[in-house]
Amino acid sequence: GSTTPRNPWDELPIRDELRGQSPYGAPQLDVPVRLNTNENPYPLPEALVDRIAERVREAARGLNRYPDRDAVELRTELARYLTRTAGHEVTAAHVWAANGSNEVLQQLLQTFGGPGRTAIGFEPSYSMHALISRGTGTGWISGPRNDDFTIDVEAARAAIAEHRPEVVFITSPNNPTGTAVNAETVLALYDAAKAAGPSTVVVDEAYGEFSHHPSLLPLIEGRRDLIVSRTMSKAFGAAGLRLGYLAADPAVVDAVQLVRLPYHLSSVTQATALAALEHTDTLLGYVAQLKSERDRLVAELRATGYEVTDSDANFVQFGRFDDSHAVWQQILDRGVLVRDNGVPGWLRVTAGTPAENDAFLDAVRELKKEHD
Ligand code: PMP
Repeated sequence: GSTTPRNPWDELPIRDELRGQSPYGAPQLDVPVRLNTNENPYPLPEALVDRIAERVREAARGLNRYPDRDAVELRTELARYLTRTAGHEVTAAHVWAANGSNEVLQQLLQTFGGPGRTAIGFEPSYSMHALISRGTGTGWISGPRNDDFTIDVEAARAAIAEHRPEVVFITSPNNPTGTAVNAETVLALYDAAKAAGPSTVVVDEAYGEFSHHPSLLPLIEGRRDLIVSRTMSKAFGAAGLRLGYLAADPAVVDAVQLVRLPYHLSSVTQATALAALEHTDTLLGYVAQLKSERDRLVAELRATGYEVTDSDANFVQFGRFDDSHAVWQQILDRGVLVRDNGVPGWLRVTAGTPAENDAFLDAVRELKKEHD
């Protein structure tokens, strides 16, 4: 038989729940066309790069001091952005920001999860929900989906009633499937969670700006335990910035103060994010292009004979393959890196520039011809 591979940390007295786990690890390979991590393919426009340099220069003059611990100016601008684009009026008091939405999610699990508590997600979904749960000592429950990757509302309700999780993750649009969740489903799960016990519902809208449907943000109105999480990594084309945020009842923002590290958001990060928000309209123009490229990928993949899951994100799930990892390798051999998320039969491609998408489509058309 095979022996278990040894990890460098096996000899260390690490926590039991970390034993046997693997770290998050999308391959970072040097390939001509990289469509594997749902990044925005467009570099920031030069005018914005200049503005960032200007604002960071200003921030640099004050780097002997700690940053604004409450990031008030940034939260005010994020609230303005949400109010303008997400169909619901919020203020700085409703908004909290951290280093990527991963840190937002970690702070939420530190606040509302933790030892003796559980979180549920409906899989396949964003793998970090489970990993951050484990990292914060929160038990993880894997809930079901339908064959078309929509949430199976009856099965989800039953799982919530059975396990009474303190945290419910709903990812819309979902990663890696691209599936949007409608407001009725969110409310059904919210009501189920409330009926089961004290609980918090986290709607992860990392890809919200790419959806055909409006944001679920208006649902926070009158629902103190419903939180919407967002990021500047995708729509703002700023994955390298590490800026995520949430919108919720101000009591949630206050509660998160109990676990956030003091001065977690550097002055440089705050200055850069503020500069990017000044260029929102230009950046949302790129989002519009990416949405139409996403729709083109869906249509072309279907025309080529692939099965494609409806997508509301900046990526597309396609299949089906008997051996998706072998197909992943064959696409890579043609210079295009896509993502094998471990969903049996399926792969995921991020919408890139028109030229990158053409390179990807050429590769998968060629494969189709070879196999037919
Ligand atoms: N949520 C979802 C659904 C994601 O796919 C991602 C990034 N892949 C994140 C959150 C985290 O993004 P970030 O930390 O860059 O904001």
